[in-house]
Amino acid sequence: MVDLQGQYKKIKNTVDTSIEEILNTATFVNGPIVHQFQKNLEDFLDVKHVIPCANGTDALQIAMMGLGLEQGDEVITADFTFAATVEVIALLKLTPVLVDVDPDNFNIDIDAIKKAITPKTKAIVPVHLFGQCANMEAIMEIAEEHNLYVIEDNAQAIGSSYKYSNGKKAKAGTIGHIASTSFFPSKNLGCYGDGGAIFTNDDDLAHTIRGIVNHGMYKRYHHDVVGVNSRLDSIQAAVLDAKLPNLNAYNKSRQQAAQKYNLAFKNHPNITIPKTVNGCEGVCDSCDCHVFHQYTLKIKNVDRDALVKHLNDNEIPCGVYYPIPLHKQKAYLDERYNDNDFKVTNQLVKEVISLPMHTELDDEQINFITSKVLEFVNG
Ligand SMILES: *Cc1c(COP(=O)(O)O)cnc(C)c1O
Repeated sequence: MVDLQGQYKKIKNTVDTSIEEILNTATFVNGPIVHQFQKNLEDFLDVKHVIPCANGTDALQIAMMGLGLEQGDEVITADFTFAATVEVIALLKLTPVLVDVDPDNFNIDIDAIKKAITPKTKAIVPVHLFGQCANMEAIMEIAEEHNLYVIEDNAQAIGSSYKYSNGKKAKAGTIGHIASTSFFPSKNLGCYGDGGAIFTNDDDLAHTIRGIVNHGMYKRYHHDVVGVNSRLDSIQAAVLDAKLPNLNAYNKSRQQAAQKYNLAFKNHPNITIPKTVNGCEGVCDSCDCHVFHQYTLKIKNVDRDALVKHLNDNEIPCGVYYPIPLHKQKAYLDERYNDNDFKVTNQLVKEVISLPMHTELDDEQINFITSKVLEFVNG
């Protein structure tokens, strides 16, 4: 699904030199490179505060802790996402409220959010799934009207931009009150282990969170709040700082691969290519509205699982993200849910398939993959 070795070879010198420096200076934790990467990411995103932490799941949890959400507060998020999003809500004893998604861009459905709001609702967590932003303009409007926090789960869309209806642009993860991201190796900006970060433009919130990630300490050995230990280590920061200058180019390579896939599959009666709905219609080569963390097709009237097997038999990796709606997962069952309210997710889990997507895909690989997909779908 990803080719991290190919990508590493191109940045080996920078990464190796930087890691060697850490080994030689033994600055493994909170070394200067962590601060340097934080600053560089703040500049790249045009956001006031980046707070690095240990992984993307922690980032979400810490964001919710920082906002002071309390037991019983309802948090609305998408039924069709990675479990980490709902997991931290439950872990903090907040009440997850899952809602359906949009069939075109797979992101949280605006009308479903509106219907789910109650007097207990405190926050919305849009997940920018597969590399493109949720409808942030509508979400921020709803949030303002109902006095809710918006926490962007930006684990899959780092480097993409959201385009407002007036043409103004902002980077994903800088629009809500706070955002989280993950630097897991396979993400668009990935390190060589675990890593994550929180973004916010709110000075007070940033201060609160800098304490929370460090055992609730604002002054050494004075613990003012219950915190956690969540750090990005120096070696991971070195990898990320070496990759950050290439992030736009990495995302462009993904877009180019997506365009080639699109060309092979467009207008096929059984295949729906991913739709880019934010800012521009179709796939664009001149903007950054979709950074294709995943390239996800919808397959109709063909046995999707048999297609997965056919590709695997031909040594083509592929993924089904996600095979089970969260509202049907044992850990998150809730009698308040009505299965009829999740029509889109229930359908998507049967139809989606994600093809290999990374920065090193060449034409030969893409042609092989598309030919094997079409061979099966065309019977
Ligand atoms: C990867 C991911 C996370 C969790 O990130 P980790 O670094 O693996 O903890 C959270 N949300 C989404 C949508 C993700 O894709």
